[in-house]
Amino acid sequence: MFHKVLIANRGEIAVRIIRALRELGIKSVAVYSEADKDSLHAKLADEAICIGPASPVESYLNMERIISATISSGAEAIHPGFGFLSENAKFVEMCEKCNIKVIGPSSDVIRKMGNKSEARNTMTEANIPVVPGSDHIIYDVDEAHEFADKIGYPVIIKAALGGGGKGMRIAVNSREFEERFETARLESENAFADDGMYIEKYIVNPRHIEFQIMADSYGNVVHLGERDCTIQRNHQKMLEESPSSAISPEMRKVMGETAVRAAKAAHYENAGTIEFLLDKDNKFYFMEMNTRIQVEHPVTEMVTGTDLIKEQIFVAQGQELSFTQDDIKISGHAIECRINAENPDKNFMPCPGVINEIHIPGGNDIRVDTAIYNGYQVPANYDSMILKLIVHDQNRYCAIHKMQSALGELVIDGIDTNIDFLYGILDDQEYKNGDITTDYIKNYIKKRCEK
Ligand code: ADP
Repeated sequence: MFHKVLIANRGEIAVRIIRALRELGIKSVAVYSEADKDSLHAKLADEAICIGPASPVESYLNMERIISATISSGAEAIHPGFGFLSENAKFVEMCEKCNIKVIGPSSDVIRKMGNKSEARNTMTEANIPVVPGSDHIIYDVDEAHEFADKIGYPVIIKAALGGGGKGMRIAVNSREFEERFETARLESENAFADDGMYIEKYIVNPRHIEFQIMADSYGNVVHLGERDCTIQRNHQKMLEESPSSAISPEMRKVMGETAVRAAKAAHYENAGTIEFLLDKDNKFYFMEMNTRIQVEHPVTEMVTGTDLIKEQIFVAQGQELSFTQDDIKISGHAIECRINAENPDKNFMPCPGVINEIHIPGGNDIRVDTAIYNGYQVPANYDSMILKLIVHDQNRYCAIHKMQSALGELVIDGIDTNIDFLYGILDDQEYKNGDITTDYIKNYIKKRCEK
């Protein structure tokens, strides 16, 4: 059993992990950058170690400093959260060599699934439906162009090591292909120091449906139902829910079993997410696997009554999963809104600053995951997501109303946020009808401008 765990992250997810550790009687060690010296995660943890300047490269992405902090604090394990080093195979490998357990899958599995092109091949071999596309990494623009012409437009060009919507471009015809390819490649080189690309058929008007899975080291793999993450802006999720209004119990069974098969094919351990695209004809395709806990994990926790962070810790300690597939029952409906420090009227420009006043909504089945407080200065150096508001109710209709009520009560004063924008979505008839695709926000903004 772990006695002390270091959290290699910041913000709300670090706070979420510290709370789980405390409930389990495990000591927590926070690491923080100079910009985060007043942050909640550094204050809440049992110990806190400064690991460098504000720039992520010098602190939260600095592997040597994080490993030194782990060793000097006497922690046996690291929880990487999401983002930063959470899917970095090299970091996990370094930890393995130092006998530090990273709470998540092994470096080998991360390497295999982190390369999206390789992950597609693993899934094809396991007979999992994947989006039609190239079967190897392409560096050469002519080869890519020829392949795109062959499978037909529109196509999506993706960075093999991509994430967070970066290094991705759509080409709707052959004429614009080369320009789009070069832009995506450049973006990938800048963001991931790699210019390996692959091409996929672009699925028109899909829904993003992902399955949460949990696997232990004894070969038990369980899925915890789906999350509908169709509400996205620029391929980045903004609002997530579980279950999906597009998935029948029969579909859930088929897709869930496919997700479990996918995890088994990857020899997976710990928490992971299998992302699918669902097309207009209800055909689904594997898109990628995320080898870490996701931002939107709370909606799954709310409808299944589980604690995924604690489960991650149990599995990492070598315990068996605390539930079987039969134990997992989806109950009611949960929605999460990501509250960002940004201005929707200025093209969602991030707007860090000081929070003068915050009022957090409460009530039955309303959950707030955040690290902000009165007088807190939102730093400009990190992601603009500052709070997650999650609600749970007996069905989608009630959950939408509960979310509107909670958003109406939430006050974050001093900085701009997307609270009103999200409220507008929940009030929109198309959203309420569940009539959504990944283009929803683009169309919603257009509709709003026309009014
Ligand atoms: P990232 O890892 O950067 O988040 P993903 O591969 O998960 O990238 O894709 C992010 C989003 O991009 C998806 O949720 C979907 O909206 C869109 N997308 C990705 N691949 C396709 C595709 N082949 N067809 C249509 N949309 C896609």
